[in-house]
Amino acid sequence: MVTLQALDPPKAVPKLIEDLTLLDEVSARTAGVSRLEMCIQCGTCGGSCPSSADMDHTPRMLFAMLRAGMREDSLKSNTPWICVSCYHCVVRCPQNVHIADVMYTLKGMAIEAKLFRDSTAPDFSQTFVDMVEEYGRGFEFGLATRHYLKHFPLRLPSMAPMGLGLLSKKRMTITPKRIKGIKQLKAILKRAKEVEGDSHG
Ligand code: SF4
Ligand code: SF4
Repeated sequence: MVTLQALDPPKAVPKLIEDLTLLDEVSARTAGVSRLEMCIQCGTCGGSCPSSADMDHTPRMLFAMLRAGMREDSLKSNTPWICVSCYHCVVRCPQNVHIADVMYTLKGMAIEAKLFRDSTAPDFSQTFVDMVEEYGRGFEFGLATRHYLKHFPLRLPSMAPMGLGLLSKKRMTITPKRIKGIKQLKAILKRAKEVEGDSHG
């Protein structure tokens, strides 16, 4: 049996000296509660994450870096930008850490600090948002093909076996499906943008 720790082994992170300043800041800036301080470094998140292969650090590693006060390394990591908010890790985390919400916080902090260095990451994020606005949900096949065609066309052939495997196991569909309440969702998103515009204006 493959254990989750084997998928994201804790030994990949060197022993770090604790400095909770950054962790506390990220926690305070996360909407609601983050429960970041409850992370036990089990590695379930990285083992559950469909995007972890493209991440500089798995969520577990990133949280260890936050705990060690590694501000610049944490905010430069492409991990929050590669996160597609699928919530696989969130529902599996034994400590109920609000992983996806923390990723949003880190994106905001990285923009503020002008520290994100993966120029394709914001575009990946925007493509995901565009798809949610259009279909009401993520569309992994379209997201991956659009992103790789645009930024890494030479890597596409190596992605084919994984894509075919996901399609054959019905873990991914080849055509997008709109949610039933798409009109209502669009109205909510439109209103949210207006409110956001008001608060920034
Ligand atoms: S965030 Fe949750 S799943 Fe990830 S390492 Fe921490 S406790 Fe484990
Ligand atoms: S929410 Fe983000 S970090 Fe968690 S499994 Fe999904 S892509 Fe990975």
